[in-house]
Amino acid sequence: MNTETLDPLRASTQTAGTANVDLTEISKFSALAQSWWDPKGASKPLHELNPLRLEYVERLGLKGKQVLDVGCGGGILSESMAAAGGDVLGIDLSPALLQVAQLHALESQSTVKYRTIAAEDLARERPQSFDLITCMEMLEHVPDPESTLAALAALVKPGGDVVISTLNRNPLSFMVAIVGAEYVAHLLPRGTHEYLKFIKPSELARWARPLGLTLNNLTGLTYNLFTRSFSLSTNTQINYLAHFKA
Ligand code: SAH
Repeated sequence: MNTETLDPLRASTQTAGTANVDLTEISKFSALAQSWWDPKGASKPLHELNPLRLEYVERLGLKGKQVLDVGCGGGILSESMAAAGGDVLGIDLSPALLQVAQLHALESQSTVKYRTIAAEDLARERPQSFDLITCMEMLEHVPDPESTLAALAALVKPGGDVVISTLNRNPLSFMVAIVGAEYVAHLLPRGTHEYLKFIKPSELARWARPLGLTLNNLTGLTYNLFTRSFSLSTNTQINYLAHFKA
């Protein structure tokens, strides 16, 4: 392992001054680091979702764009966006996951770059710097999602795109995303999600408006029990993608 290459990650650790992080959440995800790239491991749903969210983002164009992936984890989406031609920076607050991401990028000779920095801190450092920002399956794990959204609005260039995916909050999403996925099908480790942190599309849109982000599209990410696969759909009741224009 080339530790030299990993040093910049540690050097750029800037979590101080950022209260918008739940360290219990970070350690929960860090514990999954070793198996992050195992398509059959604890991140299986992320691997299964990835081609669909990549397809969604690719429609907005990736080639030659400055792309930021917020809460990138081990880099499943970040790397695929770099492979599709984006100039991608992935940020997260789990050093363990970013090490895994960095190692995987070295192995696959990806151009993606990673930093341990909070979105709010990067927004102060590089406002209006990115053509396209993705923030997938992360907002439902932060204490103050509105603050994260404000950081995304500050980081995106005027006219740029912000794509978010998260879980909707209603009795069905509770049954499917928590009871079904964690307790029945064991698709996710128990305790992965907390129902009250799920976010309704109307809440996202309401927070986004005063920040200058306009909701352009909502698309569902639906799991089909028969084919055991995800697809993009009009059903946004459980997992959904939201595209905002800056
Ligand atoms: N976006 C990735 C990973 C989703 S898992 C994907 O979809 O493939 C959720 C990620 O959010 C984890 O990597 C976790 O470390 C990160 N995370 C949670 N709270 C965070 C915060 N406050 N700031 C940055 N990242 C955070």
